Amino acid sequence: MSGFLKAKTKPSTVSHWIATNSGPDTLHNHGRDDKLPESADIVVVGAGIAGALLAYHLTHPEDVSETVPKGSRIVILEGSEVASSASHFAPATFASFPKLVRSRSEGGAGLTKAHAVDILKQEWDNYARNKDVIKKHDLVHKVDLWEGNVMTVYKTQEGLDTAFNAFQQWNEALEESGSQDYSNNVFCKDPKEALRVSRVQGAIGYSTRTAGTVHPHKLTTELLKLSISSTDYDVSLHTTTPALSITPKEDQHIVETSRGTIKAKRVVLCTNAHTPHLFPEEHPLKSFIFPIRIQMGVFTPPPEFSGTKSPQTSYGFPTGYCATSTSGIVVGISVGDYIGANIGKSEDYICNSDDTVLLPECTKYLEGFMTRTFDGWNENAIGEGLMRTWTGVIAATIDRLPLIGPVPDTPGLFISAGYNGHGMSTTHTCGRALAKLILHETWDQQFPEAYIISKERLARKLPEGGHYQLVTGVNKTT
Ligand SMILES: Cc1cc2nc3c(=O)[nH]c(=O)nc-3n(C[C@H](O)[C@H](O)[C@H](O)COP(=O)(O)OP(=O)(O)OC[C@H]3O[C@@H](n4cnc5c(N)ncnc54)[C@H](O)[C@@H]3O)c2cc1C
Repeated sequence: MSGFLKAKTKPSTVSHWIATNSGPDTLHNHGRDDKLPESADIVVVGAGIAGALLAYHLTHPEDVSETVPKGSRIVILEGSEVASSASHFAPATFASFPKLVRSRSEGGAGLTKAHAVDILKQEWDNYARNKDVIKKHDLVHKVDLWEGNVMTVYKTQEGLDTAFNAFQQWNEALEESGSQDYSNNVFCKDPKEALRVSRVQGAIGYSTRTAGTVHPHKLTTELLKLSISSTDYDVSLHTTTPALSITPKEDQHIVETSRGTIKAKRVVLCTNAHTPHLFPEEHPLKSFIFPIRIQMGVFTPPPEFSGTKSPQTSYGFPTGYCATSTSGIVVGISVGDYIGANIGKSEDYICNSDDTVLLPECTKYLEGFMTRTFDGWNENAIGEGLMRTWTGVIAATIDRLPLIGPVPDTPGLFISAGYNGHGMSTTHTCGRALAKLILHETWDQQFPEAYIISKERLARKLPEGGHYQLVTGVNKTT
């Protein structure tokens, strides 16, 4: 039984995304006091981006012959408030390729080159589909869609060479599968030019590619609003209503919540890092998904980095990344980078889902991040610099791939979780394919096979270096 939300004694830290989307048009507190229906055709557990996109595709079929019958009752249960985490739509390209093809014993996903190409191409498809939906419903300004380039900056020759090598390997794999680079990767290897264009201290080269950013809390909110307002279906959203247990009974599932029970033939878990709580000790899903805690920050830029001088791109640095939003520059540091800089211990991040606290050493590191990173970002005036910092939780899986589809041996129970920090770049195609599967019991031809949950996948084991190797790429045991 999941007791995680009941047991929480302190509230979660508040992200920049929640803090900048809490007004009367949002879904905070939505449906928390409404009577819960006794039964539903489909219960979606979790109103993050995965749950919101699934609900959207169930209620907005691309082809009307391919959806649940009109009038169906869909109930969305959210344990706290609607989601908050990510920022990029940056579809992965060459940088992810080596991890996808590396063997599982070395902490990779162990995919063939062709399967790795499929996965990366579906991230691109995801990007295009997100933009289409945003534009179709006239949401560009409501969700702060920004389209442009993502820039990765390199400060050492080795870093630049490794990236270029990965780019070449990926290009070869694309060619073998009959396609070519679709995301406009461009490399600059001239240090002077790299410094001028990136404004990053010590830059000796960079690469750019097409991508976009969005306000994730606004996008999730708008997708849920579109679903709830559908006149063809009876859709309700109940926030502050955690599903505490799910028990199969005859051909139904009994979902016990903090506010009563609800029966449904089909239940979909869009529960991300909290999924293990809903499975018994002996179930493989208890350990297949594990949490990674990350601390982020948002900066108010000085005039040299605002308006016409704003960074016109979303950056990846050798350590950390940033994305310019309409209300500040959001900075993230990966766990590998925090650990590599001797900030915190691995247990502060890996297999840790406590998002109620901040790590003082992370806060200190973030405070000086922009002055250390950008050329010309000097003293901050009062009201500039790090404005807010928060912790968020990523759901990782032991084979590095999301788990999508019917939970083996449990008819009517589905899962859409374990996005490994790529949720904004993957959930659209997954939600779309899952909505079709729920109706037709067949997969969309385009959907990557490697994402589908199976008994074979659930039997996979951690590599020798354990969670640490998966997260940092380093095997401490050798
Ligand atoms: C700090 C940070 C930065 C990130 N940056 C990026 C990025 O730049 N690009 C990118 O692609 N991805 C990024 N990610 C990853 C991305 O945010 C996730 O992959 C994505 O949010 C996953 O969506 P989700 O809906 O599966 O999970 P979540 O957003 O976690 O939503 C799950 C929801 O389910 C609810 N829930 C869980 N259990 C229950 C239950 N039992 N009952 C009811 N409700 C329940 C939770 O309260 C939550 O609201 C980032 C993540 C973090 C934490």
